Order: sequence, then structure tokens, then C-alpha cells
Amino acid sequence: MKRYLNYINGEWVESSSKKYAANTNPATGEVLGEVAQSTQEDVERAVQAAKAAQKSWRLVPAPERAEVLYRVAQLLKERKEELAQTITKEMGKVIEEARGEVQEAIDMAYYMAGEGRRLVGETVPSELRNKFAMSIRVPVGIAGFITPWNFPIAIASWKSLPALVAGNAIVWKPASETPFIAAEFVRVYEDAGLPKGLINLVFGSGSVVGNAIVDHPEIDLISFTGSNEVGKQINERAGGLLKRTSLEMGGKNAVTVLEDADLDLAVDGIIWSAYGTSGQRCTACSRIIVHEAVKEELETKLLARIAQLRVGDGLDESIDVGPVINRSSLEKIAQYVHIGVEEGAKLLAGGEILTENGLDKGNFFAPTLFTDVTADMRIAQEEIFGPVASIIPVKSLEEAIEVNNSVAFGLSSSIFTQDINKAFAAMRDLDTGIVYVNAGTTGAEIHLPFGGTKGTGNGHRDSGVAALDVFTEWKSIYVDYSGKLQRAQIDNN
Ligand code: NAP
Ligand code: MG
Repeated sequence: MKRYLNYINGEWVESSSKKYAANTNPATGEVLGEVAQSTQEDVERAVQAAKAAQKSWRLVPAPERAEVLYRVAQLLKERKEELAQTITKEMGKVIEEARGEVQEAIDMAYYMAGEGRRLVGETVPSELRNKFAMSIRVPVGIAGFITPWNFPIAIASWKSLPALVAGNAIVWKPASETPFIAAEFVRVYEDAGLPKGLINLVFGSGSVVGNAIVDHPEIDLISFTGSNEVGKQINERAGGLLKRTSLEMGGKNAVTVLEDADLDLAVDGIIWSAYGTSGQRCTACSRIIVHEAVKEELETKLLARIAQLRVGDGLDESIDVGPVINRSSLEKIAQYVHIGVEEGAKLLAGGEILTENGLDKGNFFAPTLFTDVTADMRIAQEEIFGPVASIIPVKSLEEAIEVNNSVAFGLSSSIFTQDINKAFAAMRDLDTGIVYVNAGTTGAEIHLPFGGTKGTGNGHRDSGVAALDVFTEWKSIYVDYSGKLQRAQIDNN
């Protein structure tokens, strides 16, 4: 049986508890191996290693730090298929999507390596003679990462690459459902020659290891991606310690289809966004806001496509929709379908746990479509995180935007229209961190900021140059070469 250990100070080490938990394949129920269950003591060792390593890393010129990142990119490229297989086996997304996810990490590695020669600050003219003024980015120190299972390498790459190029060290607790890809990603850093102690991996539960990271006084910032519920708890704990906390949380994303839309294109976008990754993307489309003039035609087209979706083990290249992550998630999705029916929504497709043809060994839910949903129903307001989408009919663009914005989240939105005026009005008024025109709600590229408004986040962004704002402090520097005391705001006025 494969056994995955913590990685602390450049060594693969047993946890102090010497306890292990099984990791299973959500498509087959097969036990893939076991993973260390750590304690507060392990977090302490990781923090001390990070602290020592960061002391010298901050003095390494950023272009030299970036050389490690270029090697990371190269190794990720070489190991792309192997890493993708690991993702599919332990979290279930179909293999083509897993390859895409690894590609995202490769792209991020090249992009952030380039930042090693930028890390751009400002030089501005001083208001006084013979005085120089500039701002530079400096590392925050030790970054604590708590990450989810749905994009286990992409999200880890969005956080770790900017953190490292900016001169920080890391203590990382990955999701309990996806430990193996975390270990393989750390092995890439190791093989790329990252100095020991800069990335430390501590496996274990959110309540023990997660909280130990959040509470540790020497961890300077927390970067979390996950559910709203956990994010709020982390924010409260870390807030009391005045830690910088970057939170990326849930979504309740919608595709809007106007009466002039290319309906076949809209159907492609909806199917990919609603049922890809079995609806377990934070940017998944779970609401379809449609102009009543094209509602019936859209329903017919969607149903025809849903009927063709093949559900099964994502390692099989012909499969479109893999399993959901675990049993409790499966039950939660079934519960939401029940709630939808009780609320008076009309179930058009799916709605059940799949058990035939061997699917009972895994956690499979049928791609599900509701219609005649109203914006205030629970299935239209709460994050389901499964292959369930709800059609909400509207009478105008204005009503569509109102419905889109009526939820507590603000991650992604999309609009299908051929009318440039309506498209621009939507780009302005959709209250989400990401907006797509004539594409589904998923498909972010790594060089733009990723994150959302309202309950989705707390104002920070992952990826893009914006990620550097999470992992650096601004330092403003004034150099007076006049040889005398010059008082700003006084001697020049
Ligand atoms: P989760 O239950 O919140 O878990 C996320 C991470 O937090 C895991 O590593 C988890 O550890 C840890 N954790 C759990 N309880 C904790 C606690 N009390 N203190 C500290 N850490 C704790 O979320 P998930 O189910 O893994 O992921 C799905 C959620 O993530 C969805 O809501 C989705 O929308 C969101 N998401 C958001 C984005 C974004 O960028 N906006 C991207 C992807 C996913 P264990 O695994 O050990 O429980
Ligand atoms: Mg697993």
C-alpha cells in the first residue's frame, strides 16, 4: 500500500501521531493508499523549518528564485500525464479535464517565473529637490495554505508560485480528499531544486492541522480556498491575530441566455459549465437565466445533449461526467433535488443517484436539470456543488441581471447575446469577479485575477499579478541626497 508522508524541511517524514487515513477513488471505491494524520506538533516543526528557510530565501535575487520556477514548469510538463492520472484517480474529474488542470499549473509556473524579473514597484518624483521616492514589494514571511480538493494542483499552483517568487516560505495543508497530488506537486518542487524548508506539506484534518496553521503566531498570512462556512471561521480566528487572510469561497454562478443568442453555442457553454467536473467547480453554472421567448427551445436542446452525456470512471476517455467526491456529497446533492421538487420546481432530467452498470461502487449522480425555477428558491440560492442546473425564465436583460445578482455569492457569470449594447451593459452590471460573453461560466486563464465579490471572497484575488498583492507587503522608500533636512509638506509650501 502506498504511504504518503509529510514533507518538512526537505524530508519526507512520519507524522508525530504515526496514524494514517485511507485515500479512496470516488469512481471505484478502491483504496489508493494512505496518508499521514498530523498534529499541532508537526505544524510547529513545519513553521520552524519555514522560518529558517525564509531568512535566506528573501535575500536570493528574485530572478534567481524564478529559475526554480522555470524548472518546476518544465517538470510539470514532463509529468503532465502522470499527474493528471493521479488527479482523476483520487478526485474523479475526467482525464481530459485533469490534463487541463495540470496545464493550468504549468502556465502559472512559467508566468510567475517571469515575475521574477518584474515584481514591479513604483518610482515617483519626490515633491522635494534632490530626493528620490519609490515603492518595492517585499515578502510577507510565512504563508499558510489551506486548499480544497476540486482543483488540487491548479489552486495550489495559484498560491505557491507567487508566494515563492516573492520570497515567502510555505506551510501547506491540502484537502484530505486529495493528498497524493499534493505530494506529487511537492516532489516537483523538490526535484526542481527548491531549497529545503521553503515548502512544507502537513497532511491531516481541517480541524487539527488547519486550525493549527490559522492559529500559529508565526504564520503571517493565510491563503484559503474552500467553502464559505470554513472561510468565515478562519477569518474570525485569523482576524483576532491581525493576519492577512485571503479567502476564495463558494459560487452560485449563472449563464444568461437572451432572446437573440446563438442557442447552439449557449447549449455548448451550459453543458460544459454545468456538468463538467460533475458541477464541482467553484465557477460551475448552476443557474440558467433565460429569456422566456427562447426558453422552450433551449430546454429541448439541453435535454437532447444531457441524454448523450456518458457518466462513469473519468479514466475512460469516452466519459463526459465523472463521480462526485464522496458519499456525503452525493447525499447532499440528492437532498437538494428533493428540496427543489418540494419547492415546486419542475424536474426535467436526472435527479437520482446512479447505481447500475457498476456505478454503485462509486459516487455517481445523474446530470440534472430543473425548470420553472424562481430566483428565490433554495436550489437557486445555495451552492449545491454537483451536476444540477436550474432554468429561471425572465422577461428582459434588466430582470436577468437582477436575478444574476440576487445571490449571496459573486464569482462568475456569463451572457449569451449577439447584441453588443446588451453585452456591454451586462459586463458593467453583472456583480461577479469574472464575466464571460458568449462562453460558459468556467475557463479562467491564469494571467488575470481570479476571485469574486460578496460572499465569494474578502477582496483578494488568486492568480494574475493580483496574486502578488496577497504575498507581498509594500515598502515605500525615500532617499534624500540634498545633505540637509527637508520637511515634506512644510519646506516646499
Ligand atoms: P472545505 O470543506 O471548506 O475545505 C477546504 C479546506 O479547508 C480543506 O483543506 C479542509 O480540510 C479545510 N478545513 C475544513 N475545516 C477546517 C477548519 N475548521 N479549519 C481550517 N481548515 C479547515 O471546502 P471543500 O469541500 O474542500 O471545497 C469545496 C468548496 O470550495 C466549495 O464551496 C467551492 O465553491 C469552493 N471553491 C472555491 C474556489 C474559489 O476560488 N472561489 C475554488 C475552488 C473551490 P479537510 O479536507 O481535511 O476537511
Ligand atoms: Mg480520494
